[in-house]
Amino acid sequence: MMDKIIITDLELFGRHGVYPEEQVLGQKFLVSAELFMDTRKAGKTDCLEESVNYGTVCHEIKTFLEEHTYHLIEAAAEHTAEYLLLQFPLLSQVTLELKKPWAPIGLSVESVSVKITRKWHTVYAALGSNMGDREAYLAGAVNALRDTEGIRVETVSDFLMTAPYGVTDQDPFLNGCMKLQTLLTPHELLDCFHGIEQKAGRVRARRWGPRTLDLDILFYDDLVLEDEVLTIPHRDMQNRDFVLRPMKQIAPWVRHPVLNKTIEEMEKELP
Ligand code: ATP
Ligand code: MG
Ligand code: MG
Repeated sequence: MMDKIIITDLELFGRHGVYPEEQVLGQKFLVSAELFMDTRKAGKTDCLEESVNYGTVCHEIKTFLEEHTYHLIEAAAEHTAEYLLLQFPLLSQVTLELKKPWAPIGLSVESVSVKITRKWHTVYAALGSNMGDREAYLAGAVNALRDTEGIRVETVSDFLMTAPYGVTDQDPFLNGCMKLQTLLTPHELLDCFHGIEQKAGRVRARRWGPRTLDLDILFYDDLVLEDEVLTIPHRDMQNRDFVLRPMKQIAPWVRHPVLNKTIEEMEKELP
């Protein structure tokens, strides 16, 4: 269980609501927040720099919700949570409750509220290219990710030259892996990857065929997910030396949540 700092019923005056009157007159809102982080170091050193200043957080929440206007408290909470997670590097997770005690319902209700939890997720992703200036495509992808709000590139492996996989009558690949932190959901991250592939001129001609850029999700926290568009962990990573070798360089100890094997173990078992 992670440590947290708790703020209860911070009062502010906002203009969020679907009715025009709400946007003109405004009304009272109450915000409660749970700020998840590791407080151990602050606890041991007694230094504010090692923690998140809850006073600052209160002022930031109030200012943010008074300077922005949303129709829905869902949207107000969503954007506030994202703002806090982007603003305070020590925050790993936020639970926000936004109450509207004067919600215009025409009935006696103590309050209506929305409560959401948002966090930074740890992702490992694979990059590959076997067309044109491969190094530039991979470096370009890393830079595009660095420029994406809600993504932090933490580690990038070396890029390795590898023989083509599956379809072998094509040019050699340059492959690498990255560790990311992200606020995006798995499907949002996939869309983001597809957007970057498209900007790099990726054309999907044949499966495993030549490509300027391929960005795949390997792991997303310990998530196990399978639907029409997404399989996490990546369904074939355990069979690919061009994935496991760069992964071994940056995270040999990471464990596959289904196969229950570390990267190092999977790499040893490759034929
Ligand atoms: P492979 O997935 O075997 O490495 P590929 O990367 O060449 O092959 P793409 O053409 O890039 O395949 O992607 C085809 C589809 O695979 C994507 O549109 C996406 O919906 C789906 N997909 C499923 N799981 C993943 C994943 N973990 N990461 C990226 N794409 C995935
Ligand atoms: Mg791929
Ligand atoms: Mg792909």
